Amino acid sequence: MDYLAGLNEPQREAVLHMDGPLMIVAGAGSGKTKVLTTRIAHLLHSGVDAFNILALTFTNKAAREMKERVEHMLGSTEARNLYIGTFHSVFARILRAEAHRLGFPNNFTIYDTDDAKSVLKTIINEQNLDDKHYKPGQVLNRISAAKNSLVSPQEYEHDYYIQQEDTRSNRPMMGKLYDLYVKRCFKNGAMDFDDLLFKMHELLTRFPEALHKYQHKFKYILIDEYQDTNPAQYAVIKLLGAVYENICVVGDDAQSIYSFRGATIQNILQFENDYEDVKVVKLEQNYRSTKSILNAANKIIGNNKSQIEKILWTDNADGEKIRVVRTMTDNEEGKFVADAIAEQKLRNHYSNKDFAILYRTNAQSRSFEESLRRMNIPYRIYGGLSFYQRKEIKDYLAYLRVIVNPRDEEGVRRIINYPARGIGKTTVDKVTLLAGEQDITFWEVLERAGEYGFRAGALEAIEGFVTMIKSLRVLAEKHNAYEVAVQVGKSTNMVRELFNDKSTEGVARYENIQELLNSIKEFTETPTEDGELIERGLGAYLQQISLLTDADQGGDDVDVVRLMTIHAAKGLEFPCVFSVGLEEGLFPNAMAVNTREELEEERRLFYVVVTRAKSKLWLTYANSRYRFGSLMQNEPSRFLQEIPEEHLDHSFAGGGMRNVPRGGSLWKESAYERMHRQPGGGAAAGSTARPAPKTGGSSKVVAHVPTPDFAPDDPAVFEAGVEVEHLKFGFGKVLRMEGNPNNRIATIFFPQGGGEKKIMLNYAKLRMV
Ligand code: ATP
Ligand code: MG
Repeated sequence: MDYLAGLNEPQREAVLHMDGPLMIVAGAGSGKTKVLTTRIAHLLHSGVDAFNILALTFTNKAAREMKERVEHMLGSTEARNLYIGTFHSVFARILRAEAHRLGFPNNFTIYDTDDAKSVLKTIINEQNLDDKHYKPGQVLNRISAAKNSLVSPQEYEHDYYIQQEDTRSNRPMMGKLYDLYVKRCFKNGAMDFDDLLFKMHELLTRFPEALHKYQHKFKYILIDEYQDTNPAQYAVIKLLGAVYENICVVGDDAQSIYSFRGATIQNILQFENDYEDVKVVKLEQNYRSTKSILNAANKIIGNNKSQIEKILWTDNADGEKIRVVRTMTDNEEGKFVADAIAEQKLRNHYSNKDFAILYRTNAQSRSFEESLRRMNIPYRIYGGLSFYQRKEIKDYLAYLRVIVNPRDEEGVRRIINYPARGIGKTTVDKVTLLAGEQDITFWEVLERAGEYGFRAGALEAIEGFVTMIKSLRVLAEKHNAYEVAVQVGKSTNMVRELFNDKSTEGVARYENIQELLNSIKEFTETPTEDGELIERGLGAYLQQISLLTDADQGGDDVDVVRLMTIHAAKGLEFPCVFSVGLEEGLFPNAMAVNTREELEEERRLFYVVVTRAKSKLWLTYANSRYRFGSLMQNEPSRFLQEIPEEHLDHSFAGGGMRNVPRGGSLWKESAYERMHRQPGGGAAAGSTARPAPKTGGSSKVVAHVPTPDFAPDDPAVFEAGVEVEHLKFGFGKVLRMEGNPNNRIATIFFPQGGGEKKIMLNYAKLRMV
């Protein structure tokens, strides 16, 4: 059995274990995911039917890879019949088959966060509530938390503690909103992401036949990243596995990073109590990282009080030290990273895809995008505003959604007057009112518009719209998703309209629609796996795209630098990793340092990012950066101090316009920097002994030598847009320049120095940052 070759002893033991509960708790890079994959191959090889195996992964991409690897190990296509995917995608597939039991149409719509917020906004307005107190995003978070803890609207309204909390936060109507939201989604024939878990649980608890069916179908259950399951997921797994108890869970408590979404490490700790005769396997050898990286990671996580004691060692080489790089600004941080990538490619023959830039928050990507673009290094951002959230894409998809499920009021509202067809706000309001009064759906009002005395123009427009959707619906019964999508473009005139818009945005929108159509075409041409009736129909297409997560985009082979949040990088590995923005307030995040639990979760996140790296790791931070529209000065992250000096190599990356970096008396020296200052007030620790510059490329990387005086720049160098520092007013940004060349006057905005000021540059103590 080839697939067993190369496994170490405990890995092999875990793979060969057939029946009964099995738990593998082990540190990063120890082969947990590899064991899970190999175990599937082994089950199939031992005669278990692929239809009887359920494997839950963190991303759809991981699921696809597992299928491919299993196919490769076994040399057969049997793996295609596995039920494998994320919790959301697997449950959506089951719910689609069982929706009728719950009163939902089988082609129910899946609402993304934007759709859900929009529904809530409508409800909040209808209830005449102040949307400052009831912000749709916040209300949705609260509803989401309730669903993930399996709290129904009724339980919500009767829970004393929940009620207390809502009263304290001035949101006494929360329970009512939750109830109305659930009812509205039901009326719309739609589920949001959390419903896919909540409704799955409802299905199994309310319908014994359904429970029985799936308990017997899934004889073997395997779950990766078990530490991040929330109570709803946990409960569903418990129900599904209750008959055979062939449950294999794999996880690492040190990488639990979703407690803010209700995941709890308790699930791991509890596993041994949940089942009898649990076999526990520990994996202690890390195959991923160098000794320096692994030892640093072990030290970092050692600072957490709550953790399962684990040993993690590696046979890999010592490797290079971890580079800690300080820059003045976020823009310089971006420039440093792009330069370092260019240099590494040149020197060490790395490809673009060997690099990952990982950050705490999506908003940090800008400076890296700019500098990578400037250096012509191809990259891809995972997350942020994804392709499917762009307006033109959402509009187009709304047509497809409504064709499949006209009950979807949210979708109908989006397109009822787009492109403009003379159905104005007054008409829409009237439809809304009627739907409420008559207790029928928005769509039904439109269908029966003739009965309700709309004015002639509006009636004609509505009837035209209804006829169009109905004929597209007929088309969709016989044709695949692509053919319908093309017809939508024609019937609505949308594609032509976008084609005629020759503005830059118009061209981009047109191209996006073309890309969407291409991707639908690709979908219809991919062979189907699960033998559905209209195999490549619109319903199947919509379900697939609504469940794509950030990490699913794009193939692995594309040679681009990857940019993503640390959360999205979980489970992945890269030869070279830049962990950026290591500043107090950003990472650990200011929102997450109020309790020990929160801080420990941030630390686990740091452990995750460090352990993504195989060979080289950079930890970078900037002295100042724009956040929330103002310039912030930051201290280096406390996490940097948690790595022993022996693993680190410090440098300062300055440059840009000036060649000599300026430390200067104005820079507030942090405790961290103080610690690393050589006795005698010289350069940062560890850097004096080494020749500078450390890293080449176009930016100079030199040891940081603080200069005692503030040296102002020549007035001629300032222009609108540049970021500056004033001796008295601190950091700011030049808004306008006026005056003659001999007496230039700058209008500068100082966020922390009293706002807008006019400064005569000949006299000013001002310099660029
Ligand atoms: P994480 O906690 O980050 O999810 P993991 O425990 O799931 O990590 P894997 O991703 O399965 O670890 O494995 C890490 C790397 O080590 C992979 O590149 C994998 O192929 C390799 N690996 C695992 N086990 C072995 C082995 N026995 N021999 C050689 N390489 C191995
Ligand atoms: Mg893994």
